[in-house]
Amino acid sequence: MNDRLAQLRDEGVRYLRIGYSDLHGVARGKDLPIEFAEHALEGTGFCEAIMTTDLHHNVVAGFEHGFRDIAAKFDLDTAVRVPWDPDVAWCLGDLVRLPHHEPYMVDPRGALKRAIAALAPFGDPIIAPEHEFYLCERDASAPGGHRALPDTNTPVYTVGTLADPRGALRDMMDALNEMGMKAIAGNHEYGRNQFEINLLHGPALDATDRAFRYKQTIKEVAAHNGLTATFIGKPFTHDEGSGFHLHVSLVDGDGRNLFDDPNASNGVSPLLLRFVAGVVAHAPALTAVMNPTVNAYRRFVVESLAPTHANWGYGNRLCMVRVSDERGRATRIELRNGDGAANVYLAVAAVLFAGLDGLTRELEPPTPLTGNPYEAPEEDWGAQLPATLGDALDALDADPVIRGGLGNELVDTFLAIKRYELDRWNTHLAEVTAWELEEYVDRL
Ligand code: GLU
Ligand code: MG
Repeated sequence: MNDRLAQLRDEGVRYLRIGYSDLHGVARGKDLPIEFAEHALEGTGFCEAIMTTDLHHNVVAGFEHGFRDIAAKFDLDTAVRVPWDPDVAWCLGDLVRLPHHEPYMVDPRGALKRAIAALAPFGDPIIAPEHEFYLCERDASAPGGHRALPDTNTPVYTVGTLADPRGALRDMMDALNEMGMKAIAGNHEYGRNQFEINLLHGPALDATDRAFRYKQTIKEVAAHNGLTATFIGKPFTHDEGSGFHLHVSLVDGDGRNLFDDPNASNGVSPLLLRFVAGVVAHAPALTAVMNPTVNAYRRFVVESLAPTHANWGYGNRLCMVRVSDERGRATRIELRNGDGAANVYLAVAAVLFAGLDGLTRELEPPTPLTGNPYEAPEEDWGAQLPATLGDALDALDADPVIRGGLGNELVDTFLAIKRYELDRWNTHLAEVTAWELEEYVDRL
């Protein structure tokens, strides 16, 4: 038996779990009894239909061409014991095509690896994700089968029993840190029963792997507590949206921060400015990847902490890109447009490809915005971000840089499943609503 596998078995592991991301960012996987796992280390097979289904398991039209096999190759270096199910060691995997094991071009983790490799001539990306989420309860009578928790006045930016009467946040951070996911802080967020846990920054692949597992862990631990955690951008009409804020910097081989320049007027290097320029230039296409649901677009509200326009500023949370006020090793940008429904692998990959374009073409960013951008004349706000999922998908379709980076096969598949989701939404919108019946039937 493989040495690492034997070690896991001797430590009491009974199942090897492989997890990988589909295009939606949902963690798909298989459990293999450890005594049968060895033969699968080179890849456990899946039907490729998993990459061409919508979130309700409909296989999207256009992909019914035989459904070949793909395989997930266990990365045993990523094996961690699952605290809520210690029989299991959870590994991540890379997807390959059978029979020759070439990379499967629709694999989101593979796209991130390609982005990191493409950026290598300029430096190694360091990222930190921040995901906000709500805790809800199942209630079959509520719209969508979930309702907000009954604690209607949990207080903003606090910790302790009043903020989290169930102690769920602590359970989640414990679970994350038992698995080495480096949860460094957690608190109640602005909305009622909305929380945020911060993960330590790290090299892009490691930090994105942790972010992927973070989302799965939050959902699993919530389920163990009889709750549902949701990362969608706007689960409740009258409460705050949930963002996915992405911090990015570049380092050289010695770990020196390449976005830092103590001699420059704002303390930031030309590399940072060019990276920002790339992100601003490709913001419409990035929106599709960072905000891949019809729900996401409810979160973008003027004068909120979620941006409506492609702009940037120093220390300005009302902009799409904030240059953090910290300098030295911590010099970084924060991209604020994403929401937690985004696939973290695709989001980080797309942002890196956008920044890379700014670096390669030495783009200059527009004028940074100061104060409340919405008090400036509207023409200074920057380009408007796509206001609907349909517009964002069209922008992604039309952006050769993001398309070329992520790869045509991946982007075409993503667009097809998301446009199918949009068609289902439009069909739903065409149905007679409860509002119309309540408004008219008795009177007219
Ligand atoms: N909830 C806000 C959003 O939708 C962000 C709040 C914050 O800055 O932490 O992005
Ligand atoms: Mg926050």
